[in-house]
Amino acid sequence: MSFTSILKNPIEYLKGVGPQRADLLKKEAGIFTFEDLLNYFPYRHIDRTKVARIADIHPDSDYVLVSGKVISVEELGEKRSRRFVVSMSDGSGIMELVWFQGINWVNKILHTGTPLRVFGKVGFFMNSLQMAHPEFEIINTTHTPTRDFLEPVYPSTEKLKARQLGGRNIAQLTYALLQLLSEKDLPENLPLTILEKYKLKNRFESYKNIHFPSNQGEWQDAVTRLKYEELFISQLRLGLVRFQRNTFSKGLIFEKSGDFLNDFYHHHLPFELTNAQKRVLKEIRRDMGSGRQMNRLLQGDVGSGKTMVALLSMLIAAGNGYQSCFMAPTEILARQHYDNLKTMLGNLNIEIGIITGSSSAKEKREVLAKCADGILHIIIGTHALIEDTVQFKNLGLAIIDEQHRFGVEQRAKLWKKNTVPPHILVMTATPIPRTLALTAYGDLEYSIMDEMPAGRIPITTVHRMEYRRPDVMGFVRSEIDKGRQVYIIYPLIEESAKLDFENLMKGYEDVKAYFPEPKYYISVVHGRQKKDMKTINMSRFVEGDTQIMVSTTVIEVGVNVPNASVMVIENSEKFGLTQLHQLRGRVGRGSEKSYCILMSKVKMTPDAKARIKIMCETNDGFKIAEKDLEIRGPGDIEGTRQSGELNFKLANIVEDRAILEQARHDAENIIKQDNTLSGAAYTGLRMFLQSDGKRTGWSKIS
Ligand code: ADP
Ligand code: MG
Repeated sequence: MSFTSILKNPIEYLKGVGPQRADLLKKEAGIFTFEDLLNYFPYRHIDRTKVARIADIHPDSDYVLVSGKVISVEELGEKRSRRFVVSMSDGSGIMELVWFQGINWVNKILHTGTPLRVFGKVGFFMNSLQMAHPEFEIINTTHTPTRDFLEPVYPSTEKLKARQLGGRNIAQLTYALLQLLSEKDLPENLPLTILEKYKLKNRFESYKNIHFPSNQGEWQDAVTRLKYEELFISQLRLGLVRFQRNTFSKGLIFEKSGDFLNDFYHHHLPFELTNAQKRVLKEIRRDMGSGRQMNRLLQGDVGSGKTMVALLSMLIAAGNGYQSCFMAPTEILARQHYDNLKTMLGNLNIEIGIITGSSSAKEKREVLAKCADGILHIIIGTHALIEDTVQFKNLGLAIIDEQHRFGVEQRAKLWKKNTVPPHILVMTATPIPRTLALTAYGDLEYSIMDEMPAGRIPITTVHRMEYRRPDVMGFVRSEIDKGRQVYIIYPLIEESAKLDFENLMKGYEDVKAYFPEPKYYISVVHGRQKKDMKTINMSRFVEGDTQIMVSTTVIEVGVNVPNASVMVIENSEKFGLTQLHQLRGRVGRGSEKSYCILMSKVKMTPDAKARIKIMCETNDGFKIAEKDLEIRGPGDIEGTRQSGELNFKLANIVEDRAILEQARHDAENIIKQDNTLSGAAYTGLRMFLQSDGKRTGWSKIS
């Protein structure tokens, strides 16, 4: 059933919009339809239901609305201290309005005698009441002084404002739109049980009240309801995807562990598996034998031994006659996995190949041919493996290592590599917060490795300011003299690649001065090097020919040199938490005590201080991930920016994590009870999902 709603109308159909403004609304605000406008929410409301008297304003009055007249205007100061000061009076007192920017513009508009209404945060400056950069409006006589609802303030841009599409104009459009709508345009989609359980307000009311509430309480209720709806619908969708896949999708059946796994497990395993590794392997084995396609996310802290789990899973695939591909985020890492797996596999009869950007045309041809013929059991590579040129005879398992950036769409590309989609295992580089896992990876099953291999000695992390450099270098020397190796890492900030490079090279010279040849040898790796130089420098360090690795963050993920015991991070205040944790994870991989030294300037932002403090306090990647999300907010988490699954309009997965958990739980219960949502209680929900069928994939089941 399809039902066309006025909400699907293109925005130019709205009175007062027209083609040109519609164009701008599309480009600048992503507003294409009535529905988009309805979902363009105000970031704040102005309480114009009450006008404050200047005489009554006190220092903690915060935001107030004042109505009065300009009594004088004055331009003061020069250059940087130039400012425009307007005195206004409402009969009860006088208040100053100050502008430091946009002076010429305000100067043109405000003159002595101009009647105006201003809104802003008040402060006291030199004993006089002041409002800096207030929102203001010139009041003409026909204007009603107060309203019976709170006025919404919408985000706008310079370009929009130039076309009379400032926040206030958007409010007018939204107001007009709401007049056109009735309950049937926004029918209730949440089941009654849920509305009652959380005392949520009705959908149509909530849309009205999020824009034009009569008071703060109404607005809060509207937000609560719409946030819940947003999270619930997304969790229901993800839950339905999981359900459909578990029920309807066919998966390759790997019946046995197979000879490869058994042989390797009993004769070549270099160490006893941790309990976590064993448990996860069982989960994977069960998935791959179930007749359904595996789609699993493996979360493990840095160094928890994910590679071994990957290898054992690929051996199961091989033992059942299927090929595997193993995808790494960088070439260096792909190469290292290849070397590592080759060594571990020894004389086992497993054919393994690698394909990267630096493979020669001939090598590529050969590997691709072997892959297509089914000769290769395992192929390792970068992203390039998802390209269409890479064909398999019978791909049974795809493993994506250390990726944050691998979204649903890319995974879907992998599915097409075989007529029956291969099993998929996504391994994270560092743990991600549960809320992110539920949203960005909410369509996946979920395994956790929360245990480190035995015998690891916890890494000691310290913070050192710049002036302690001589001590730090002295410590580095003593570790090298004990036979250890050391990383010294410089930040890489894309915007200023040139500066980063100079910074790194200067650092390299400094390090060389402390550690001269021939007693010491240094590897240097950075983004501007030719690939083979990178590889040579890298492998010299891996082989132990150089004691020090000076590098940008290109070595960030995955690199494994167990003999390295010190990680010095320069300008550590410039790194994000996950990145610091990931970098730290390069040491502490062997049997020796390891150290991470976070160098920084004395002056740091509060966020940077907080990050460094957390790093010094804990080695637990799961804890760090939660803190990271708290500090940075969800919009900023590495690699998730483009992730459509996280584009919530209202909800914030950090602040609203309790709602998210509830919504997840409710969605699961509903799917358990009625997985086609055909019960009368779910009519509204079903209709809603059907009208939005494309996004849900819902059409497939009904
Ligand atoms: P990550 O989970 O960060 O990818 P790796 O797979 O690179 O970690 O493993 C880190 C190190 O721990 C490697 O040197 C690996 O050989 C070793 N390792 C993995 N599992 C075990 C284990 N069960 N016992 C001892 N060492 C292990
Ligand atoms: Mg790894």
